Amino acid sequence: MTSIDYNAFRDEVRDFLATSYPASKRELNQRQAGMFAEPELGQWWQRTLHARGWGAPSWPVEYGGTGWDAVQKHIFMSECTAANTPSFAVQGLAMVAPVVMKFGTQAQKDFFLPGILSGELYFCQGFSEPGSGSDLASLRTSAVREGDDYLVNGSKIWTTHAHFANWIFLLVRTSTEGKPQQGITFLLAPMSTPGISVRPIISISGEHELNQTFYDNARIPIANRIGDENKGWDVAKYLLEFERGGAYAPSAQGMLEAAKKIAAQQPGDDCATLWDDPQFQRKTAELEIDMLAQAATEHRVMTALAGGNNPGDIVASMLKLSGTALQQAASELCVEALGDYALADQRQSLHLSSNIPPIGPDYAARPVAKFLNLRACTIYGGSSEVQHNIVARAAMGLK
Ligand SMILES: Cc1cc2nc3c(=O)[nH]c(=O)nc-3n(C[C@H](O)[C@H](O)[C@H](O)COP(=O)(O)OP(=O)(O)OC[C@H]3O[C@@H](n4cnc5c(N)ncnc54)[C@H](O)[C@@H]3O)c2cc1C
Repeated sequence: MTSIDYNAFRDEVRDFLATSYPASKRELNQRQAGMFAEPELGQWWQRTLHARGWGAPSWPVEYGGTGWDAVQKHIFMSECTAANTPSFAVQGLAMVAPVVMKFGTQAQKDFFLPGILSGELYFCQGFSEPGSGSDLASLRTSAVREGDDYLVNGSKIWTTHAHFANWIFLLVRTSTEGKPQQGITFLLAPMSTPGISVRPIISISGEHELNQTFYDNARIPIANRIGDENKGWDVAKYLLEFERGGAYAPSAQGMLEAAKKIAAQQPGDDCATLWDDPQFQRKTAELEIDMLAQAATEHRVMTALAGGNNPGDIVASMLKLSGTALQQAASELCVEALGDYALADQRQSLHLSSNIPPIGPDYAARPVAKFLNLRACTIYGGSSEVQHNIVARAAMGLK
């Protein structure tokens, strides 16, 4: 067995980032505070990674994964975090792709996986509906067969990046018989399908990331169904393991590093800078320890994924609970470090097309928008209360 030279690998990643992520793009990314970078940046970055063969480190090698071990993945992610690379929307790579790998036909794998890997197929997620969020199985958007198609009618809400996406994965109701879970089907549709329309929802941070989407006799081919009709709940549950069992530590650790850098430049009360304040250092150290524990667990899960396994619903829920709490805590520390600059409205300087400088130093632009944006992370992907229920039921053997 050949041993891997991790130092050489780290140098390789650093060289790649130094040459492939130019200062102009880094500056643009400073103006992004949302969940995902706008595609002009996010898709560009995914294409760049793909061209290097590094587009999907967590995928099995047979579908284009890198074959890296857990240490290599950790090195890659930490270097990307340190370089503050754009965060590409995960709905394709990390959510629908594993579902296509497990439940898709060969034709579906051949069509969707290469396009997702290169970033050209840009997916959004059509699960939640007005009135059907935590209780997802109560969803009502209907799909009725007509010839080779389903005719889809209804509405989905909180559809992140639907205004950018060219594909959507949808849960639809194909039967009202039996338990609600038994009449759900999983479909994939181009966003250009006649009858699909998108209405923006502006969030508390001032960004347009969310949408309501409408389906008015939208004709979706039966060939775009993943799995059997009325078996979409199994597909959705599998997908949610990947949505919840992702990597939270790198972004939390990135924000913690940002908080340290801000603190080193902000004045302290009884010391030269905030970073010299022992209370601030204590808070930072406590968070850092929790993040290391989170990262270690995430690495174990990632190692299992590369072997073609799924995270498991309990581990996925636990990771989401602790990971999102850490993300919120790190974003709060950034705001605390920012001091009075956190009071300024920085929204005007936060879009890719903006040329308005932030009020105060460069680092003042993002933290508040990021903090506001992250209020939602304990809601999306299934709220914390619901994750607590899943874990508690498992712990008490109630499942
Ligand atoms: C920023 C953001 C992005 C999102 N992106 C997407 C997306 O791209 N695609 C998509 O399909 N959806 C998306 N969602 C929707 C998200 O999955 C739902 O908001 C979430 O599942 C909660 O559903 P709800 O909003 O209907 O709240 P509800 O289900 O109405 O819950 C309201 C409150 O009641 C609590 N609650 C509900 N049931 C229970 C229970 N059984 N026990 C204890 N407490 C409970 C909840 O925790 C919550 O506090 C997004 C949401 C947000 C905020």
